[in-house]
Amino acid sequence: MAGSFQQKVLLFNSCSGRLENTGGTDPGPASEIFWYLTYNLPRRSLAVTTVKKQLIDLSHTIEHGLITYKGLPAPVICDFLSREQSKQHYAPGTEFQIGKIEMVANTGTYLDSPFHRYPDGRDLSQLELTSLADLDGVVVRAKGEGERAIDATALDGIDVRGKAVLVQTGWDSHWKTDQYFESHPFLTKDAAQLLADEGAALVGIDSYNIDDTADLSRPVHSILLGAGIPVVEHMCNLGQLPVNGFKFFAVPVKVKGMGTFPLRAFGIVGE
Ligand SMILES: [Zn+2]
Repeated sequence: MAGSFQQKVLLFNSCSGRLENTGGTDPGPASEIFWYLTYNLPRRSLAVTTVKKQLIDLSHTIEHGLITYKGLPAPVICDFLSREQSKQHYAPGTEFQIGKIEMVANTGTYLDSPFHRYPDGRDLSQLELTSLADLDGVVVRAKGEGERAIDATALDGIDVRGKAVLVQTGWDSHWKTDQYFESHPFLTKDAAQLLADEGAALVGIDSYNIDDTADLSRPVHSILLGAGIPVVEHMCNLGQLPVNGFKFFAVPVKVKGMGTFPLRAFGIVGE
């Protein structure tokens, strides 16, 4: 339905203590209702609410001087053509700005394609759009487990096949602080192997690196990118997504000969 969105109206039945759809139909999976209760409803006004389509931004803002990864240079953002300079090219009162950015590929929230790790792997320009957009998403809530290493047991009971698997560690709360660079959470080799074996479509994480940076063989990058599974790092706001029932988009610029690039990752929730 182009140009519109559907609404679902849930009624709270104060007698039964249950949520009901206005149409008397099944209100949907329990996880979906839990998410609505957690994020959408004020605690004391559970009478009537509408659930509408929402876009959830899962990307950090890139700005001049931002350090994403320790040891890599920050982006330099400036005018190529300033508004003042542009005036000589246009009619009176008409001006433009053309910006210039100099940065390494690993800046902000970015996607790794297989070429990042393997010379014969697919680069950004060779990734199918269907592998990056309109993916069914699932969130792995790994926040607050106390362990930096997130192993395969975190994926127990989660159907990852064909899905964008987004691992929420909560590390994005340290973004733009010195803590962000030290002692970050990461996936283990066995978690990566399970994701590859089970056919995940894409794997994302809201941490500094999907690998333990102390392991110089980078097993998670090696396994996932070796299996043709793109990786998204430095995500944020994963707590705003439900565990299931959302669509995920992570589409970088289509650049030939590059393996990594920033993107605007987002999820669509609701109907
Ligand atoms: Zn990476």
